[in-house]
Amino acid sequence: MDYVGNPLLTCLFLALLLLQWRFPLRRQHFKVLHRLVRNFVLSLPGFAIVRLAMLPIPIAIAMWAQLQHIGLLNWIHFPTWTVVIATVLLMDYAYWWWHWAMHMVPFFWRFHNVHHTDLDLDVSTAARFHFGEMILSTAFLSLAVVVFGIGPIMLVVFFVSFEAATLFHHSNWRLPIYVERILNLILVTPRMHGIHHSIVQRETNSNWGTMFCWWDKLHRTLRRDVPQDAVTIGVAAYREENELTLGKLFVMPFREQREWRLPTGEIPERDQKPAEELVE
Ligand SMILES: [Zn+2]
Repeated sequence: MDYVGNPLLTCLFLALLLLQWRFPLRRQHFKVLHRLVRNFVLSLPGFAIVRLAMLPIPIAIAMWAQLQHIGLLNWIHFPTWTVVIATVLLMDYAYWWWHWAMHMVPFFWRFHNVHHTDLDLDVSTAARFHFGEMILSTAFLSLAVVVFGIGPIMLVVFFVSFEAATLFHHSNWRLPIYVERILNLILVTPRMHGIHHSIVQRETNSNWGTMFCWWDKLHRTLRRDVPQDAVTIGVAAYREENELTLGKLFVMPFREQREWRLPTGEIPERDQKPAEELVE
């Protein structure tokens, strides 16, 4: 992870930063540098947790599970390529449920809300997670590793792919629509995830996938019918920039949570027929 994974992810981050600056998808409302700094500082405890706990603990558990022959993939000897595919599919599907729980369980939403309060969406949002969510996520990852019997190397391979997918679908990079439609047959893409960050609650409660779009298709939670310039990014009740300063974001999960309403009191809605095809 230190010698290959992190340099790879850093290069991807910088490449996406350049691409979204050169070919922007949604109109941004706030200064890029300002948001970069805020999201980066907010994620600093998260980075420390990833380095000190989120990887070392599940890796240690993966090694132990392998020795003890615990977990699905440790029971039978599969060819390596099958294990790679099974690991990525099982873990990505497990994370679909985890993301679902982050939205549906009020205690979890307190933490995930911080990620969604970003008023613009770009590659820096991919790092904007409250450290509480990272701690919860470490526990979930450890559990998934034991249940599925994920090996330590496979875990690192999955983790790097998962983080790369997270950087990609949060980016504000405008891909030609036909290219994105093809990619979106398999992957979660920037337009698809953009709809997940909408202030319309029904749209936020869709597109929970990270790597593959199939799980949302399976659960009928896939929405691709909203044009990007019709999406307002953020959480309805948290629209004021001065309420989203670093200090306020750190304590947000421990404060009373607001209802999903705009500061004016109205509930954002949209009348639109669901369409299957991804729109501009
Ligand atoms: Zn979410």
